[in-house]
Parts: sequence; structure tokens; C-alpha cells
Amino acid sequence: MNRLIFIPFDQLNVNHGALKSADRETDVIVLIESQRMILGRTWHKQRLQFLLSCARHFAAELRSNDWNVEYLRSDNTASGLKEISEKYPDREIFCATPNSFRMRQQLAEIGVNFVENDFFLTSQELFTIWADTQKTFTMENFYRAQRKRLGILMSGTTPIGGEWNYDAENRLPPKKDQDWGTTISFDSDLIDQEVMAELPDTAWGNFETKIWGTTRAEALAQMEHFFQNHFKEFGPFEDAMPASSWTGHHSLLSPYLNNGLLHPSEVVSAAIQRFEQGDIPLASCEGFIRQIIGWREYINGMYWFLGEDYREGNGLGANRKLLPLFQNSKKTEMSCVKSLVQDVEDYGWTHHIPRLMVLSNLALITGVKPQEFLDWMREVFIDAADWVMVPNVIGMATHADGGTLMTKPYAAGGAYISKMGQFCKNCKYDPKLRTGETACPFTTLYWDFLDRNAQMFSKNHRMFQQMGGLRKLSNIEEVKSRAQQVLNGLDQGLI
Ligand code: SF4
Repeated sequence: MNRLIFIPFDQLNVNHGALKSADRETDVIVLIESQRMILGRTWHKQRLQFLLSCARHFAAELRSNDWNVEYLRSDNTASGLKEISEKYPDREIFCATPNSFRMRQQLAEIGVNFVENDFFLTSQELFTIWADTQKTFTMENFYRAQRKRLGILMSGTTPIGGEWNYDAENRLPPKKDQDWGTTISFDSDLIDQEVMAELPDTAWGNFETKIWGTTRAEALAQMEHFFQNHFKEFGPFEDAMPASSWTGHHSLLSPYLNNGLLHPSEVVSAAIQRFEQGDIPLASCEGFIRQIIGWREYINGMYWFLGEDYREGNGLGANRKLLPLFQNSKKTEMSCVKSLVQDVEDYGWTHHIPRLMVLSNLALITGVKPQEFLDWMREVFIDAADWVMVPNVIGMATHADGGTLMTKPYAAGGAYISKMGQFCKNCKYDPKLRTGETACPFTTLYWDFLDRNAQMFSKNHRMFQQMGGLRKLSNIEEVKSRAQQVLNGLDQGLI
């Protein structure tokens, strides 16, 4: 049967998804640039350029390998598929099961046939079997099951090195004058330039040089660069927030994993091969493997397991509008936030600790509406697929699911940021102070957040220590009064 093979922009791989079983002689490959997608949100320039340019490059590579490709620009995906169906009236449309609820529903409604989505290492059926047997959805338990099931870093039934997890070795703060190595950038070709020239005026952020590759070859080059230059020190410094480097020793591979240019199985294989050369500490290898076969698969599994309505959660009743500083780094005097939002403006990326412990922490303790924060994260981070961001923001970042995913909120004062980052020295605020004009806003708001939600948190045994600390505070009324000033200042972009 001759078919139309539809490739969404997050399934760009000839060896996986619907292309795996496609026939070069008879099938027509279809990619659609949806104007609704392009204009529907205030996307970061880096993100939009990456999404579109990768798709156009992918289509060009398929054509040069003798595939019959139709690349359409249409009002939306459905109108594009209707157009292509009219051109090829005898053909049915096939697609690997989409990676988001919305796309899955949209394609199902117009009769697209779904084939296996193998862009992850864990099928939804398999994940559901695991999740259905859990009392709490602890990622570490899932990760250990994955290690055993996939036989990665295992010696029989025991983990190599004797421990499942080397996090205790992986929490070093950045060192003074530490060398963070090099990053690579790529040359913009004609396709890149064409996409850049077409970006809508509404696009946000900066685009100076092409730091995100837009082809499979460039994705592989990024992977090779990481394994040769950063893998060794990735583990110990994976939580460190240096002021002099926007990448630290992180791999920068998530965008390519999330749009299909790289597959998790090849990244894991490459990591193990590099580890077996002997000079990579087990703590680095295990920490990296945990991100790929643990966190990434867990978050995707939970996205589907928790269902479509999960994204609407607001368990803490947080209704503040998005703070102006998230959209403009000039709207804050907090050194850590300014620096990290500048990184987002420039690169569309920060690693997981700035995302969780600075940006999300601020949204949490100020009470920003989770759905507003989710929209912002989706638009500005280069790798922000829906399945990534919904559980991360609603569950981990803002505790808006009432504790389904994480048993306690990731709230912290300035002490954590001071310990793991290099921003406080140049800040007008003092992480140790919770009241007064120079008190660190994080420290003030942390206590105010606990106090505002005391009724709910006092029922949570995992918050026992924090709530005990709150009860011992002698000046909570003063803290609350300063917190109001800080919240007003943040709303006006003046703090
Ligand atoms: Fe950030 Fe507070 Fe440190 Fe300033 S003092 S950099 S606001 S943590």
C-alpha cells in the first residue's frame, strides 16, 4: 500500500518512528510548517529557529537520499494534511504516535493511523505497569528498575561499583577560577539564514551565533564534543552554577534528543563506550546515564500516566501574574536571577539547577500562577517539549499537583543559591538576611511561603524540619511585612 508518512518536528529520525518502516520507492514523506505553531506563542528566537531549521534540513537530507518529500507551509497541521490528502487522494496517512496530548488528539480526529513511537526506551504500557504498582512515584525506584531491565552499568543483578547512585559525590559547588572548557558553535548555512530571515517579529530573546546545531551531523558533533571535553567532570559539578560559564560541564544534548536527531539508545551506548576507555569516573557516567534512562524516561512516562488535565493543577492556589523579570533581565537587581535570565535570553537554555532552584523556586515562593510559568518555560527553553515541561513545572517546580509527583516542594532560600552558585558576591542583597532592605528576596520569601502555606505543609511529614524552623523564627511578622514589600517590588520589576 502506498502511504503518506507524516513526520512531526519532534520525530526527525530515519531509523525510528514512522520512517523506520517507510518505503523509499512508494511512500511520500510529509512535513508541515504550521503558522498556528509559529505565531501562536512568543517563542524564543533560538527555539523557533532550531525547530524550523532542523525540520527543513531534515527534509533536504531525505530528498538528497532519494525520498519523495512534501514540505508544506499551512495554517495549521490539520489544514496541511487535508491539502496533501487532496493531492494524493488514494493514500492513507501514517505517523508514529505523537509526543503530546494535543497532537495525538488532533491527528486521531482526522483519521491518521498511528504506528509505534520508539523515540523513548520505555513504552507507555511498560511505564504504566511500573506506575500502577507504586505507592509514591519515586524516580529513584523507576531508575533502578530501568538499570536492571536495560542491563546498563550492571554486573549481573548488582550495580557496577556497588551503589545505584553517586549523587553524594556529585554536589560540588563551582571552584574559584575553575576552567569550564569550551563550547562549540556552528556555521549558519543557507537554510539557517533563510529561517532566521523569516522569524516573526514577535520572537523573543537574542540570536548572535548558531550555538544549536540544526542537522544530524551537528547533533553528533555536539555529542562528541561533550564526551571528549566535559564528560569527565560532568558528575561532580552537575549541580554547580558558575558565574563564568553558561554551560558548566553539561552535554547540551536535550534539544537533539527531544526532536529526534539523536536517539537515547545511541547516546547511552556512546556514554558507556567512552566510560569503558577508563578515564571517566563512575560518578560522572552514572549521573549522566541517570538523566537519560531515569529522569527523561520517568518524566515522559508520568506525562502520559497523569493525564491531560494534570497541567491545570494549582494545589497551592497561586495566582500571581508572571513576574516582569522572567521576560526581561533588566527588571531585576537580583544578581543570580539577572544572570540566569540573561542566559535564557541569549541561549534559550540553563541547566536543571538554575531552572529548578532559582527560576522555578522564585515562581513557587512568589506564588506565580503555575500555568503562566509553564507557558513561559515552554516558549523560552530550547528543549521545552510539552511532555518535558508539564510534569516538571506542575509537579516539580511549582508543587501545583498537591504532591503527586514530589512529596515536598522544591523551595529554598538564598543559602542554597549562595552555596551552589557564584552570584551572591556581586549582589546588592545578602543571602543570610531575611529582613531589611538588603535581605535576599529568596530568603525572605522562603519563610513567607512556608508561613502562607503552613496549614497544608504542617500535614506533610517531609516538611517537618522546615515547619519546625518556621516555628522557631522570632521575627515572622517582620519577615511577612518585608515579603510584601519584596512581592510588590517584583511585580513592578524593581527588586
Ligand atoms: Fe540571588 Fe539572594 Fe544571592 Fe542575590 S543574595 S545572588 S538574590 S541568592
